[in-house]
Amino acid sequence: MSDLIEVRNLKKYFSTPRGMLHAVDNVTFSIEKGKTIGVVGESGCGKSTLGKTLMRLHDPTSGEVLYNGEDIANMPIREFKQKYRSHIQMIFQDPYASLDPRMDVLQLVEEPIRVNNKKLSKAEVTAKAREMMELVGLAKRLEISYPHELDGGRRQRIGIARALSLSPEFIVCDEPVSALDVSIQAQILNLLQDLQKERGLTYMFITHDMSVVKHISDDIAVMYLGQMVEKCPSGEIFRNTIHPYSQALLSAIPIPSVHEKSERMILKGELTSPIDPKPCCRFAARCPYATDRCRAEEPVLREMKPGHQVACHYAEKFM
Ligand code: SF4
Repeated sequence: MSDLIEVRNLKKYFSTPRGMLHAVDNVTFSIEKGKTIGVVGESGCGKSTLGKTLMRLHDPTSGEVLYNGEDIANMPIREFKQKYRSHIQMIFQDPYASLDPRMDVLQLVEEPIRVNNKKLSKAEVTAKAREMMELVGLAKRLEISYPHELDGGRRQRIGIARALSLSPEFIVCDEPVSALDVSIQAQILNLLQDLQKERGLTYMFITHDMSVVKHISDDIAVMYLGQMVEKCPSGEIFRNTIHPYSQALLSAIPIPSVHEKSERMILKGELTSPIDPKPCCRFAARCPYATDRCRAEEPVLREMKPGHQVACHYAEKFM
């Protein structure tokens, strides 16, 4: 299958009183049509900014985002909205914050359909909204409920119905299950997977939780302070973790057995400032294997095995 999204050397910097904050710094990757890339990393690593830049909620500082070969990052925003807004949608972490509390469920699902399809009659908008509610498993009796009357899982189903109502091809899922109970997380992940199979959707799934991303991703990209430090097929990262930061993330996954013990890698040291960072490995201050070279030279993302890329000077040692 061909790539739907190709991101090339994407940068997003923000101006702050102390200097330029490098939120996303020279990130390159692609996503095949119908597949899911999981983007993982701790808070502040730039994964949400990356998602928002792909959606054109932020304009990139430089770099390209090719959608079916066309650069959507640098086209005028008006043209982007006309041609691509319905193709690319986002599902947010906190469905409650993204839903108008004064609207009932049917109105909430109708809203994007009405706004983006001005030619549809009121009856057609309602029919389409009901179709979307059924698709995501929201019972008809909930049409007149308000967001505060629903649990987190149902609220997230509204968010998914709203995103799907424009028949997108690509969805950025920004921590869509992290605010939900574990049992509800599984329901929403299954729903997203079923919808992907049915509709051939392509996902970028942003999360800080490695165990969540394991179930849904075809590829995994690990981000640290605005940069991609490891990228490979999903199964590979759990069998053969190379980058020391990815090792630390994986060691934090709880093991559901009292008989097995996992050795947790506790990271010590200060976080490097993302404001005008020096050319060095940004993980050096917390990496147990850091050397003078790490503190003076920035590692580049290198292919260590077919499809497995790592940004570490000593990646060979950790294979
Ligand atoms: Fe650690 Fe050095 Fe590799 Fe960075 S380049 S991850 S500091 S060993």
